[in-house]
Amino acid sequence: MIELVVISGKGGTGKTTVVGALAALARDKVIADCDVDAPDLHLLLRPKAEKTVSYEGSKLAEIDVGFCIGCGTCLEACRFDAVLPVGNKFRIDPLSCEGCGACAHACPVGAIELRPRLSGWIHVSRTPYGTLVHGELLPGEGASGKLVTQVKMRARELGRLEGAKLLLVDGAPGIGCPVIASLSGAHAAVVVTEPSLAALHDLARVIGVARHFRVRTYVVINKADLAADVAERIEGFARGQGLSVLGRIPYDEGVIEAQVAGQPVVDRSTAVAQVLRSIWDRLSQELDLRA
Ligand code: SF4
Ligand code: SF4
Repeated sequence: MIELVVISGKGGTGKTTVVGALAALARDKVIADCDVDAPDLHLLLRPKAEKTVSYEGSKLAEIDVGFCIGCGTCLEACRFDAVLPVGNKFRIDPLSCEGCGACAHACPVGAIELRPRLSGWIHVSRTPYGTLVHGELLPGEGASGKLVTQVKMRARELGRLEGAKLLLVDGAPGIGCPVIASLSGAHAAVVVTEPSLAALHDLARVIGVARHFRVRTYVVINKADLAADVAERIEGFARGQGLSVLGRIPYDEGVIEAQVAGQPVVDRSTAVAQVLRSIWDRLSQELDLRA
C-alpha cells in the first residue's frame, strides 16, 4: 500500500481541496485526515461515522485525599499553578494541569497519581469515496502529533484489511510535530503551495522536512495565475531542488462554491477540475497506481 501525504507549508493554501479531489479520483484507497487541529476534510467527503474510539493523549494528576497529609509540597512543585489549596487540603485544577508529574514525584506520601485524560476521539467513517479515519482533538488539548500517529496507524490497519492500494493522508500544515507525524512512514508527499514569497519560504522549509524523512516529494501551485511571475519562481525553485511541479491550479471562485456545497471540486466540470485530474494522472503514473 502506497502512503501519499498532502501537506503545505502553512494552512489556507488549498491543501484540503487537493486531498478532496484525489479522494474522489483515486480507487482502492483509505483516507486519513491528519490535520487534527483544524479538520475540514469531512466537510467535503460527507462521512457517516461507523465507529468512534476515545483518544487519551495526556495525563491528569489526581490527589488521593485519604492519603494526603496536607504538607503543600505539591503546591510548591507545580509550575503551572494547577494545585489549589482547599481548607487544609489541596486539589488539582484539571484546566491548568499539564500532566508533567512533578507533584507526584515530590509528594512525600505518594498521594498523587497521574491518570490518562480524555483528549479527543478517533472516528472511522464511510464516505462515498471510501473509508475515512479522522481525529478530533478536544479544545485545549495539545498532543496533536500523537493523535496523528494513532489516526495513521488505524488507517494503515484498515487499509491492509480492505486490501487498499493507497493510503491518502491529509497531512497537518506547517513543519511542527503533527506534520512530522504525518510524514513519518510515507512513500510520497505532495506539497500544496501558492504564489507568494512567504509561501515560497514555507515551501523550502517543508521540503526540508520531507527530505529528512526521505519522502519522494512533488509540488502543486494553487491559485497560480494570481501571481504568475512568483509561480514561475516557485517552479524554478522546485526544479532546482530536483522536484516535479505536478500542476498549476488556476484561481476559481467555483472552488469555494463546491466547498460550501460539500462537494469535491472534481465532481464539477471546471478548468480547476481539469487540472486536478491531470495532476492525479501524473501522480498515479509516478506512483504506479494506475489500475
Ligand atoms: S504533596 Fe502529597 S501529601 Fe503533600 S499536600 Fe500534596 S498531595 Fe498532599
Ligand atoms: S502534573 Fe504537573 S501540572 Fe499537573 S498538577 Fe502536577 S505538577 Fe502541576
